[in-house]
Amino acid sequence: MATIELHQVEKKFGDFPAVKPMDLTIQDGEFLVLLGPSGCGKTTTLRMISGLETVTGGTISLNGRNVTWLHPSERDVAFVFQFFALYPHMTVRQNIVFPLQAERMAPADIDKRVAEVVKMLRIEHLMSQRPGTLSGGDQQRAALARALVRRPAAFLMDEPLGALDAELREAMRAEIKQLHIDQHATTVYVTHDQIEAMAMGDRIVVMSNAVVQQVGTPAEVYYNPANLFVARFIGSPGMNLVQGQFADQTVRFSGEQNYEVPAEWKPAIKKATGSNSVTVGFRPEAAHLSESGALVGEVYAVDIHGSYSMLHVKLAGSNGDFEIVHVRTDRRTNYPIGAQVRFDLNPEMVRFFDTSSEAAIQRENA
Ligand code: ATP
Repeated sequence: MATIELHQVEKKFGDFPAVKPMDLTIQDGEFLVLLGPSGCGKTTTLRMISGLETVTGGTISLNGRNVTWLHPSERDVAFVFQFFALYPHMTVRQNIVFPLQAERMAPADIDKRVAEVVKMLRIEHLMSQRPGTLSGGDQQRAALARALVRRPAAFLMDEPLGALDAELREAMRAEIKQLHIDQHATTVYVTHDQIEAMAMGDRIVVMSNAVVQQVGTPAEVYYNPANLFVARFIGSPGMNLVQGQFADQTVRFSGEQNYEVPAEWKPAIKKATGSNSVTVGFRPEAAHLSESGALVGEVYAVDIHGSYSMLHVKLAGSNGDFEIVHVRTDRRTNYPIGAQVRFDLNPEMVRFFDTSSEAAIQRENA
């Protein structure tokens, strides 16, 4: 069990900042996901926690102990990689017991530990096989068993499901989550897949360009993104973001459409946007089609998902350009391409951003 604290931790490769100074506390027993696009600094952050990479600034503590300059083997953390990193010439059993033998644990204790982990991961039948004969999922179970058997204070996982196909990924995602629920071991998990992050994380750290953009629960980053980057990155599709000008209590979009700002937002928007340039954000499910809807657009495309449909709606602009927004509908109505639709936004689910700073506008007394 472990609490991990990062204080102003940073990494530069030469002059290039891979991770800009970051503060982060990972709670004991927490499943924390580092999420962001390729190259944003997730892996480097994880490697600094593990000790596989040195820091160029800041301190890392594990249970209050400064481990910043300790060797990985002295940190009591276990690393699970995307590529299974099992020794190919050893059997699954030999792979799993290897870290315990390296610690010179008594054979009877090794047997007990291995039996427990092997049962948990349901790989009893694979123990005498070599990794090369196993499926991707079984190899990853064996790699997880090798990490678990050590009972480390924390698990660090770098895209452990990245090499698996979609179906297996989903099944393994549930297994890892279940293991975490059973074991309650502090886990830091790197992924660039926001669906995986939302499904697995107690909290998510959203990174971009070496900077932490937001730390929050899945619901927080989804419903209250801290800025336009998080709003776009989280969700599939991301949040609808429509630019406009705030005047006379309304936001005027480029196509001369006016959106009446909910009363509780007016003071905050007025105060926040010096230039009056504001971006209105709403999730596809925050828009609901209605014949008397205040906003109007034209159906541009329809994605049918079975239990719901996603309409791509074209909001007309003043100079011939247009903006596409996504509107989710559970109705079975057929919406032909080109049809005019009207919709309203659920005032509880609308968010506003300062277009120039890209930061979310915070509602007063919210
Ligand atoms: P990915 O999902 O592609 O692994 P990431 O978010 O994990 O991306 P990092 O691997 O942490 O990103 O890399 C962050 C940045 O640091 C990238 O621009 C990468 O090219 C750079 N970088 C990483 N390791 C090194 C290194 N050893 N030397 C120089 N630059 C590096």
